[in-house]
Amino acid sequence: MSESRQFLARAAAKARNDQHFNQLSKAIASYDSMVRQTRSRQFQNWAQARALAATIKDDVLARLPELLEQFEQNMLAAGGKVFWAETAEDARSYVLALAQKHQAKRVVKSKSMVTEEIGLNEHLEQHGVEVWESDLGELIVQLEREKPYHIVTPAMHKSKAEISRLFHDKLHAPLTEDAEELTLVARRHLREVYLSSTLGVTGANFLVADLGAVVVTENEGNARLTMACPPVHVVIAGLEKILPRLSDLSLFLPLLATSGTGQELTSYNSIVLGPRHAHESDGPAEMHVILLDNGRSALYQQAAFREILRCIRCGACLNACPVYRTIGGHAYNATYQGPIGAVIMPHYNGFGKYQHLAYASSLCGACSDVCPVQIDIHHLLLKNRRTAVERRAQPWFWRAAMRLYAWVMADAARLQRVRHWLVRLWPWQRLWRRPAEQLPPLSPKSFRELWREHGSQP
Ligand code: SF4
Repeated sequence: MSESRQFLARAAAKARNDQHFNQLSKAIASYDSMVRQTRSRQFQNWAQARALAATIKDDVLARLPELLEQFEQNMLAAGGKVFWAETAEDARSYVLALAQKHQAKRVVKSKSMVTEEIGLNEHLEQHGVEVWESDLGELIVQLEREKPYHIVTPAMHKSKAEISRLFHDKLHAPLTEDAEELTLVARRHLREVYLSSTLGVTGANFLVADLGAVVVTENEGNARLTMACPPVHVVIAGLEKILPRLSDLSLFLPLLATSGTGQELTSYNSIVLGPRHAHESDGPAEMHVILLDNGRSALYQQAAFREILRCIRCGACLNACPVYRTIGGHAYNATYQGPIGAVIMPHYNGFGKYQHLAYASSLCGACSDVCPVQIDIHHLLLKNRRTAVERRAQPWFWRAAMRLYAWVMADAARLQRVRHWLVRLWPWQRLWRRPAEQLPPLSPKSFRELWREHGSQP
């Protein structure tokens, strides 16, 4: 079965599942209420904040090569190493080579969608390196052997009872539905993981060019321990994560926190300036930053799609999307779900496999309305539909059916004949009990002709 038909089957199953719908609705309702309250407290003028963020990101895109090189020079000067990975395979191989060089048996990771994008865990595990997720939500989906359900809250679909049962089965913890107790189970398990891991792998929410700094925001403190405890810290970041100045964080940190989780600021915001320096008592001896392309340059070179590289992965468009709110994240079978996923997955992983996601949208524009960097997401979805047609990425029978449809619709008389033929000859008219004679005749003029004659008059 094609990926597109599998998507339809999964989406239909999820849409019919009341328990799934209730869990998802509860989580998003709580998010909506938090965002409403925080936004008005944190931003005097939300529209202006979004416009400013979009302008800064557009400036970044106009100077992307220069800013990335500035970041590289500053990171190298601070003692870090920078690797430019053109493909997912380049990034995976670099991390594996590092693990092998340091004879790592175990790697600890904090939440990072870009490592999901390149399939890092699977690659390391295939080569005998154990990987542990340290973010609570990521740990839950890892133990369940699932993929993240949402780009910000990966275990959003799980109830406390399900998490309790999972921890009982996999970590031998007592059954409890007390959220604090469940968190402590994960905490006790992870302490030992931090101390016994040779590599700590994180993503980056932002890279600051004028400082050569890596910025990581989080709520559990796990990313800090992932960066600080193992002797080697590896950062994997998409090229678009760059910001020009440290001062830009005063806008982007609250913007991300508000849109991502409805907080004014996340609990921990780390700005990392290279590996441990001579005068410092702790931190990793080595720090490597992998700048990942994996299709981003191709997007960058297409003026029509470039704005998607403004994305700060806040997840707000998922929470606003009526389709995501009905079918949830797993139906997409994609690293990035919801509207943002529907735009970028075909560019990163091929239109042949993911072009159908552009149709998983009512084009209502709710995603564009909430995007904190003003990405016109629903129009990009339309552009993806057009690109799929231009690249002939749809199945042959679909293309043939659309050509036939266009031929019939192009001529009113032809449409009338086909319509009569269908209604008269088609056997199911008897099932409907609607004789052809009852159907009203088609208008002799098309809508466009009528519009031209009457202008905008009703
Ligand atoms: S497209 Fe906009 S709303 Fe969606 S994740 Fe990116 S920044 Fe957030």
